[in-house]
Amino acid sequence: TADLSPADGHRARELDRHILHSWSKHPATNPLAIARASGVRMWDHDGREYLDFSSQLVNTNIGHAHPRVVEAIQRQAAELATVAPATTNLVRGEAAERILSKIDAMAAVFFTNGGADAVENAIRIARVHTGRTKVLSHYRSYHGNTGAAINATGDTRRVGNEFAVGHVHCFGPFLYRSEFWAETPEQEAERALQHARRVIEAEGPSTFAAILVEPVPGTAGILVPPPGYLQGLRELADAHGIVLIIDEVMAGFGRTGEWFAHQHDGVRPDLVTFAKGSNSGYVPVGGVIIAEHILETFRERPIPGGLTYSGHPLAAASIVASIDAMTDEGIIEHAAHLGADVLGPGLRELAERHPIIGEVRGRGCFWALDLVADRDSRRPVDASVVAGLKGALLERGYLPFTADNRIHVVPPLVMSDDDARAGLAILDEVLAAHASAAP
Ligand code: PLP
Repeated sequence: TADLSPADGHRARELDRHILHSWSKHPATNPLAIARASGVRMWDHDGREYLDFSSQLVNTNIGHAHPRVVEAIQRQAAELATVAPATTNLVRGEAAERILSKIDAMAAVFFTNGGADAVENAIRIARVHTGRTKVLSHYRSYHGNTGAAINATGDTRRVGNEFAVGHVHCFGPFLYRSEFWAETPEQEAERALQHARRVIEAEGPSTFAAILVEPVPGTAGILVPPPGYLQGLRELADAHGIVLIIDEVMAGFGRTGEWFAHQHDGVRPDLVTFAKGSNSGYVPVGGVIIAEHILETFRERPIPGGLTYSGHPLAAASIVASIDAMTDEGIIEHAAHLGADVLGPGLRELAERHPIIGEVRGRGCFWALDLVADRDSRRPVDASVVAGLKGALLERGYLPFTADNRIHVVPPLVMSDDDARAGLAILDEVLAAHASAAP
């Protein structure tokens, strides 16, 4: 990092006036100008170091600049940087083969450019396969910013984008803020399923193409489902000939300590969407993993959709290298260890000392601190409290992911135990300073 230049940082911020940022008013207020990254560390142009506890948008599962992935992209760029999707191509087939080797009983992959168009195409596939239109998804979900994906989304980013038809929402389980007056995980699962069942019955079961669900809703707050919920959705889908789409865009590729989060629940999906962790975002990519009985439909008729960059060689090469490195280096096992032995216990210990933490939830490298104004009412803290904590964490070199009233603790899966403990210590310090400054 010796050659970092503060002048470049100044210029990057100046040129930012030409950028309209995602979900933002123009111009963006004071965005961080990042110059370099390696492993779990990032540097700005002044050489200030940050420990990445965000994995950016929860996508750099393998960490930054992993040498095997970088080298694979460089090699592929020199050999064949791009090729039409209708051609066949060795590295694309290898990427699909690697993905299918990590999930049971799936037959093929449709590659996309990212997560939203993976969801978009999964919904399209389900609609073509069933000849039906409606999609049941959950409030407290995020599925991407394109047509059907944003309409399937449960959070307020949907509002203002509601131009697609056939989207129905229900509440999924979330015991800490239960919609169902539940007091146990069993009650929460049973009542949430009863609610989903009643919504489907009221809307007409034969009108549903798909049930779409995040195996652990991520952006909505890392809501690990109670045992039986995903299996219950599977049974509901089976009862009515509905396709079950599991959206693994954020939770997949090791984030929860399994290759795919739904593998914790032993549930069998019909379609799985993926993106982020499949290659840690070094090249934009996503896709739909398709079960054989759904693929049958496309033996008889073409899929009515395609993309110029479907199965792009740079993306494919980065997926192969990333999955191989994750396998060889035991990165998924390490994520499970970090969750069980360092992050989980460490965050629960913080909750014992800091009453602002209402709940700690998660698994693997996928954790949320639900921050409350008081523990009895569970009233979420105001946005200004989270903004203050975020600033204080950044000042101490901790790069956080925050959403609503929460801090999500979502580092790259390659983080060492020592770095994870260093991050926990910074969190401790910042929460203590906040408590002592509070009126
Ligand atoms: N699905 C889930 C579960 C996500 O978390 C996201 C992004 O955060 C998406 C879909 C959309 O992915 P992308 O931003 O790559 O389009």
